[in-house]
Amino acid sequence: MACALLSFTLAAFNCLQARSMTDKQNTTHFGYKTVAAEQKVSLVANVFHSVAAKYDVMNDLMSLGIHRLWKRFTIDCSGVRPGQQVLDLAGGTGDITALFSKRVGPTGKVVLADINASMLNVGRDKLRDLGLVNNIEYVQANAEALPFADNSFDIISIGFGLRNVTDKDAALRSMFRVLKPGGRLLVLEFSKPEQEWLSKVYDLYSFKLLPAMGQLVANDKESYQYLAESIRMHPDQETLKAMMQDAGFAEVSYHNLTGGIVALHRGYKF
Ligand code: SAM
Repeated sequence: MACALLSFTLAAFNCLQARSMTDKQNTTHFGYKTVAAEQKVSLVANVFHSVAAKYDVMNDLMSLGIHRLWKRFTIDCSGVRPGQQVLDLAGGTGDITALFSKRVGPTGKVVLADINASMLNVGRDKLRDLGLVNNIEYVQANAEALPFADNSFDIISIGFGLRNVTDKDAALRSMFRVLKPGGRLLVLEFSKPEQEWLSKVYDLYSFKLLPAMGQLVANDKESYQYLAESIRMHPDQETLKAMMQDAGFAEVSYHNLTGGIVALHRGYKF
């Protein structure tokens, strides 16, 4: 009897343990909220469907145009050459694609891939208006499971996209798979300010001013509240570096930009 009771208790304990492990595995962050992992994709999708039309205006406003310098720096660090194959992942409205398109020229190709149809549509219209048509392809794809053959690209960039991805490790492994040997990945993303005083000013800016600006310009306070929260929940510089190494990338290094508000990580596939 005692034995039966003990084995029942153990079975119940194991069951509870298994359930709490499953809970841990199946939840993730959406900003500061904890949500079911499968819910995050649609929550992020709602944010970008909602901001797509005003995305570029808000980017310029929020960063005072500085995002353009961060993006140029990314291209400069990519070592891109004419004729190369580039994947601009989570490419959204196509700023980074536009810069790469000019550098790879008519013999190269840039694939702008994004999970969100609204962002892709705004991007496609914008790049066509700029006359960039011949060497760009558009693909709707999830970074976690890229629909490209192994060893397809010389360069992959992901600009301000990784923090929105549910399973970042899976996404990094997927990028590693589709990169050619000798190719490089560039991750441009918000990160952790290096100085305490900058952190405080930045907190004030992002939690007070940013949502107010979102409300005023895009009539959408929640999306910009999510933006501020998702930045705080994103892995810091060293953590992201370790994640890239775990996914297989070699010689991983990073540059802090604007005091670490943004960081550019670079890693190679050998
Ligand atoms: N790269 C552009 C830039 O720097 O302006 C757009 C960045 S925007 C902040 C983030 C983009 O990531 C959105 O267009 C969003 O749809 C995309 N995104 C979010 N989750 C994704 C995923 N799992 N796979 C691919 N793209 C994703």
